Amino acid sequence: MKILSVNAGSSSLKFQAYEMPEEKVLMKGVFERIGIDNSFYTIKINGEKIKKEATLRNHEDAVRILAQELINYNVVKDLNEIEGVGHRIVHGGDKYANSVIIDDDVLKTVEELSDLAPLHNPANLVGIRAFMKEIPNAKQVGCFDTAFHQTIDEERYLYAVPYEWYEKYGIRKYGFHGMSHKYVSNRVREILDEKYCNIIVCHLGNGGSISAVRDGKCVDTTMGFTPNAGIVMGSRSGDIDYSIIPYMMKKTGKSIEEIDTILNKQSGMLGISGISSDFRDIEAKISEKDQKAIMAHYLFVNSVVSYIAKYYVELGGVDAIAFTAGVGENSPHVRNMVIKRLACLGVKLDKEKNEEMRFGKEGIITKESSSIPCYVIPTDEEVMIAKDTYNIVK
Ligand code: ADP
Repeated sequence: MKILSVNAGSSSLKFQAYEMPEEKVLMKGVFERIGIDNSFYTIKINGEKIKKEATLRNHEDAVRILAQELINYNVVKDLNEIEGVGHRIVHGGDKYANSVIIDDDVLKTVEELSDLAPLHNPANLVGIRAFMKEIPNAKQVGCFDTAFHQTIDEERYLYAVPYEWYEKYGIRKYGFHGMSHKYVSNRVREILDEKYCNIIVCHLGNGGSISAVRDGKCVDTTMGFTPNAGIVMGSRSGDIDYSIIPYMMKKTGKSIEEIDTILNKQSGMLGISGISSDFRDIEAKISEKDQKAIMAHYLFVNSVVSYIAKYYVELGGVDAIAFTAGVGENSPHVRNMVIKRLACLGVKLDKEKNEEMRFGKEGIITKESSSIPCYVIPTDEEVMIAKDTYNIVK
């Protein structure tokens, strides 16, 4: 069965075409600068990368070209061969604990939830509507970033604020990066050959979150009402004392929107180091002994370690820890710093294996004598979307 996995952003559209259930990638690519000048798209097929310029006034233009290219490159003879299109949707609120077929009711709910994810849900909707028009016979499936976290208990998703805020306004922890946490925790369960086990997944990218997973179900996660909660990130602050916000508004005369932008886009690693939100730039400066770069790294590692410790206790012991996403998959330095701090739990890093595990490699990075095995698992949200879509359509 041929399935498309789609991630529509405000000015981009990423896709992967799969043959399922084999999980074979037939073609993938990205449309960029949609609705802006100089738009273009790139396609990867049979090991070849093709870049083309195109007028992309809107997402419909992109989907129309994609449909044509699927035929041009013989991925399909007829668009009806595509039986399912899985869409990444950032916010499903507390309504969706699983991926679902998109009908009018789902469209309405995703639209209503735009208040909670103003940058993402509207863009996701535009993508869905464009595919509904261009490939009308395919089942459109919504795969929510929040869904995997719907198994979190009330005692962990509630904030200690007036209960009425939760009832009236939906103020609670939702959690994000769900497709990644689901993929990685399932992959670890396959490696351990154990359905019933406790896993901590550290998704460390530009945005980052950590999840505690028991028997494949999420018990707790670091992101909250928005993706700004939890660990220190590339440009997001992560957890802070909320009183800083009114205090800084008074001190600087900045508006709530300006402070919000600073906490989202100018904080985290960028804010502390003053260098960049990119860990590669920070690591380059660390080798030059730049004190702020070193400090940023410490703050980041501290926040990761403190959540691993918290989840170790919440889960009542851990069978495996997994590192994933840009930093988790590619920075032996960060993994080394985190794992060293777990020595008190009996975790022992294998330095050689840790250095080896980069650029898409999957494997163990701890010694056999380590109390908890740690793994690097390259995340694959696209295949998770394709799997969910296949299972629903089938
Ligand atoms: P997101 O999806 O949140 O944008 P990614 O998972 O793609 O993030 O991760 C991007 C981040 O990964 C970059 O900001 C960079 O800091 C980090 N990264 C990528 N490659 C390396 C590397 N070789 N060493 C250290 N960090 C890396």
